[in-house]
Amino acid sequence: MISLNNLHKSYVTGSNSLHVLKGIDLEIQKGEFVSIMGSSGSGKSTLLNILGILDNYDQGSYYLNGALVKDMSEKKAAKLRNELVGFVFQSFNLISFKNAMENVALPLYYQGVPRKKRNKIALEYLEKVGLLEWATHLPNELSGGQKQRVAIARSLISQPKIIFADEPTGALDTSTSYEVMDMLKEINADGITVILVTHEHDIAAMTQKIVHLKDGGIDQVIVNGDLKHFQRQYAKELETA
Ligand code: ATP
Ligand code: MG
Repeated sequence: MISLNNLHKSYVTGSNSLHVLKGIDLEIQKGEFVSIMGSSGSGKSTLLNILGILDNYDQGSYYLNGALVKDMSEKKAAKLRNELVGFVFQSFNLISFKNAMENVALPLYYQGVPRKKRNKIALEYLEKVGLLEWATHLPNELSGGQKQRVAIARSLISQPKIIFADEPTGALDTSTSYEVMDMLKEINADGITVILVTHEHDIAAMTQKIVHLKDGGIDQVIVNGDLKHFQRQYAKELETA
């Protein structure tokens, strides 16, 4: 589903160039539940944004469902995103003056679905995340966990094949984080590929595969619970961070 080969990305600002990703090779199959870890500034969000076609890369290749993602027109990129991809962010990115139902319905608004129909579908998705009775509440009337569930419902409404989540639990306390992770797990059990970025080792441990970024490359991939070794190593990294 996702195949990266020797992928490079630099940010150029003025006369400065920062080489962030220095040759990433990565395969992710349909239905996987993957976390991307690494210290602050290691390029996790950069990688996620490239995977979600929110940003371009410089060298190498990225194949998504067999199609080469490279220097796409915004129109083509938007089409791929609409068909395949949902996003969830640390700060929820809800629209403050729209209620929960309207926030969930937003992707359908952009697809031109009439109001009555999109609101009806939005209510179905709010029900899925256990928030039906909060449909008419504004974001500032919801807890952090509830806001993230609204954001997850919104990411699901266009029936994506992959959910990309950048620190989805970063603004939440521990027990709420686990609730959100349980929800992502359920979504994954329904066959949707989930790829998330996290700083938190406990959160990463709930995924099937941990991809660890370091010095612009992937320094290790831990599959299904082989975590003891990783825990020791990561603890060291945190100490020295
Ligand atoms: P964090 O854990 O703090 O979110 P991260 O691993 O997600 O960090 P990135 O946001 O991918 O890291 O950033 C990687 C590096 O690229 C950082 O040094 C950052 O300052 C730089 N960077 C990120 N975005 C840009 C940009 N748009 N322009 C210039 N530099 C950028
Ligand atoms: Mg980041």
